[in-house]
Amino acid sequence: MGYISGKWLFFRPKPRQGHAHMSEDSRLPQKIVPVLVPMPAERPYSYAVPEGMDVKPGSIVRVPLGPREVAGIVTSDVTDDISAKKLRPISELFDCPPVDDGMMRFMRWAADYTISPPGMVARMVLRVPAAFDPEPHVPGLRFSGREPERMTGARARVLELAEDGMAWTRTGLAHAAGVSATVIDGLHTAGVFEQVMIPPRPIVAAPDINYAKAVLSSDQAEAADRLVEAVSSKDFSVTLLDGVTGSGKTEVYFEALAKAIEQGKQVLILLPEIALTQQFLDRFHDRFGTKPAEWHSDLAPKTRERVWRQVMEGQVRVVAGARSALFLPFNDLGLIIVDEEHDSAYKQEDRVFYNARDMAVVRGHIGNFPVILASATPSIESQVNAIQGKYTRIRLTGRYAEAAMPNLRAIDMRKSPPRPGGFLSPALVEAVNQTLQRKEQSLLFLNRRGYAPLTLCRVCGHRFQCPCCSSWLVEHRFRGQLVCHQCGHHEPKPDACPSCGTFDHLVACGPGVERIAEEAEKTFPDARIIVLSSDLMGVKRLRLELDAIARGEADIVIGTQLVAKGHNFPNMTLVGVVDADLGLANGDPRAAERTFQLLNQVTGRAGRTGKKSTGLLQTYQPDHPVMRAIVSGDAQAFYDREIEERERSGLPPFGRLGALIISAATRPEAEAHARALRRAAPTSQQINVLGPAEAPLALVRGRHRFRLLIHGTRKADIQGFIRAMLGAGPKERGSIRVQVDIDPQSFL
Ligand code: ADP
Ligand code: ZN
Repeated sequence: MGYISGKWLFFRPKPRQGHAHMSEDSRLPQKIVPVLVPMPAERPYSYAVPEGMDVKPGSIVRVPLGPREVAGIVTSDVTDDISAKKLRPISELFDCPPVDDGMMRFMRWAADYTISPPGMVARMVLRVPAAFDPEPHVPGLRFSGREPERMTGARARVLELAEDGMAWTRTGLAHAAGVSATVIDGLHTAGVFEQVMIPPRPIVAAPDINYAKAVLSSDQAEAADRLVEAVSSKDFSVTLLDGVTGSGKTEVYFEALAKAIEQGKQVLILLPEIALTQQFLDRFHDRFGTKPAEWHSDLAPKTRERVWRQVMEGQVRVVAGARSALFLPFNDLGLIIVDEEHDSAYKQEDRVFYNARDMAVVRGHIGNFPVILASATPSIESQVNAIQGKYTRIRLTGRYAEAAMPNLRAIDMRKSPPRPGGFLSPALVEAVNQTLQRKEQSLLFLNRRGYAPLTLCRVCGHRFQCPCCSSWLVEHRFRGQLVCHQCGHHEPKPDACPSCGTFDHLVACGPGVERIAEEAEKTFPDARIIVLSSDLMGVKRLRLELDAIARGEADIVIGTQLVAKGHNFPNMTLVGVVDADLGLANGDPRAAERTFQLLNQVTGRAGRTGKKSTGLLQTYQPDHPVMRAIVSGDAQAFYDREIEERERSGLPPFGRLGALIISAATRPEAEAHARALRRAAPTSQQINVLGPAEAPLALVRGRHRFRLLIHGTRKADIQGFIRAMLGAGPKERGSIRVQVDIDPQSFL
C-alpha cells in the first residue's frame, strides 16, 4: 500500500517527544518509511510511522531491530510495497534536526564508491547516540522587574548586571558581580528573580573574523585573495595550496576560512594528527579569538556528544578534526580545508575503507562549495589533477619572513659508518655537538617505535615472533616488553631463549627510537633529551612535551613521525634522519613518494624561524632519486619522474586499483575463498585481476590473509566489476571475511 504522497503535510508540525504510540485505529492508512540502520544491511528497512509523528528524509529515529532498538536515519528510498500493518512502528523521533540533504547524498555516494553497506556509512554518522536528544537546559535566574526593599552595595552590583533581563546561572551571576552566592539567594528569596531554564553554553564561542588579522606577505596576500575569491563564488572548486614548509599556508587558508564564516557557513578543517596539534588550535585562537571545536578519537564522551549536537544545530561554526569529522552532521557546510593533504593518515582501513582527502572533494562537489588541499609535498594524485587543470594550483615558493630553507645533505653511511653497535654516524654526531654548542635544538628522527625491531637468540637463531601475526616482536625496553605492532600482543622479555634455553644471549637487532635515545645519552651526556613516541605517553602528555620542546626545554628531541607533523619548534636548527632508507624497502608502489614526503616534512621542522638550519639524511643509497630530490631541493624533477612512472604502468591516477582482502581462521579456507572469487571475476577488456597472493602480512590477529588486486584503466568501472565478482562468487561464511579497499594505499 505504500505511503500516500502528500500525506506528510497533514501531520501536526510539532513532533511528540518521547515514545509515540501506534494508532489504535488500524483503518487509517499509514505511512511507511525506509530507515537506514547502523548495520551491514544493503538496503534500508521499512517501518510504519505512528500517527502524529512527522518524519522526513534525514530524520533520526529509534526503531526496533530484532530484540533491540537502534538509531537510524529515514531515507528517501522507495520502500517495498508491504502493508503497514505488518511492519513494526518507529519508536521515537528524536528531537534533533534532520541530517541535511547534502549529507544524505554524500553518505549514499560514499557507500557506493567504497562498496560498503549504506548502513555502515550511516553508522559513522550515528556514532554518538546520546547526542540525539537535546542537551538539557540548566536552571537560571532572570530579573523579575521587582526591586528589593533593602539595597546594599553588593545587591546593587548584581542588579546592575541583571537589569537588562538576560538570564544568568546563579554562580555565573555571583561571579560576574563579584559577590557571594548567598547575595543572589537573598535576592531570589526577595522575589527579585524568576527561575528560568537556559540553554547550555556553546562548546566554543563563535569565531571573530576580525579578531587579529594577520599581516600577510605579498605572496601570501595574493594566495589568500585567490582563495577568498574561490569561497566568494560559492561554487564547487578544488584549490591545491602548494607551499614549502614554513611558507605560512595556515595563515593563508585562515583568510578563506574567515570569508566562509562571514558568509554564514560552517567550515571543516581536516588535520592528519589532530590529537597532537595543540599549536594549531592556539594559532586559530590567536587569529579568531576562540578555538575551533575539535573532533577526534581522544575526546571525552561528553565533549563528543556536545560537539556532534552543536555542529548539527549550528552553534559550532568551525571544526578541526580527524578524518571521521567528515561524517559530522553539518547543516551548513561551506568550506573544507584538508591540511597535509598527502598524509596517509587520511586513509581509513577499517570497516569502511575511505580516503578522507578524496571524500572531502566529493563532499564539496555534492554541497557545491570549495575545497582547499594544502601541502608542501602534494600527493601524486593531486599533482596530476593540478596539471590537468581539474584543481587550481596556488604556489608559495618561499618561507615566511625570508627564513631560509634548511641546508640538506645526505650522509653516505658506507663512507661514514657509525661505531660498532651504534647508529649515529660521526658526521651526525659532530653536527649535533655543534648545535648543542650554539644552544639550539636537534631532532633525531627515526620512524620506528620501541628499542629494536627484532630480537634473536645468538646461540640457536630463534627469533621472537607474534603468536597471532606474521610480524616480529618489537622490544620496548622502557616497558620491559616484547610487543607486536600489528595486534598489540605483548609479553615480558625472557632472560633465557624459549627455544634453546640459553641464558643472556638474546640480542636486539636494528634500532628503534628508544635505542637511539640510549646511544644519544651516552654520546651527549650533558644534553637534555626527550623521546617522543606515541606508545610512551598519552595525548595530554604529548601535548605538554611538545610545548616544553617549543619553549626550548630540551636540547635533543628523538622522535617518530608524530614530531614531523605540524609543529613549529622555534629553536630547532638541526634535523638528523637516522635511517632515511627505511620507508623505501617495502614493495609498495608509493614507497618513494611517501619517503619523499616524510623526509621533506621532517627536515622542514628545521629553521622555521629564520635561523640557519641543516637537515642530514643518513642513507646507504645517496644516489636514490628520493635522496637526490631532497638534497637538491628539486622536487619537480622527482615528481616528474614519479608521474611518468605511474603513467607508464597505468597506476593511479592514470589507472584504477581496488583490492580485496580475504581472511579466515585457516589458511586453506582463505586461499580457497580467494581463488573462488578470482574465478567469479567477469571478463573485461579494461580490468585485470592479479592474485590471489598471500598477503605480505600473511597472519594478523590469528587470521590468515590473501589479497586480490584489481587493476583497471582510468575509465574502468572498478566498482561494478568488484560487485559482479562478489555477487557471482561464494558468499562469506564461517570465519571468512572479505574486505574491499578501493584506491588502496597499503598493500600489506
Ligand atoms: P606551513 O603550514 O606552510 O608550513 P605555517 O603556516 O606553519 O607554515 O607558518 C610557518 C611559521 O611562520 C609559523 O610560525 C607562522 O606563525 C609564521 N607565519 C607565517 N605567515 C605569517 C604571517 N603572515 N605573519 C606572521 N607569522 C607568520
Ligand atoms: Zn600480533
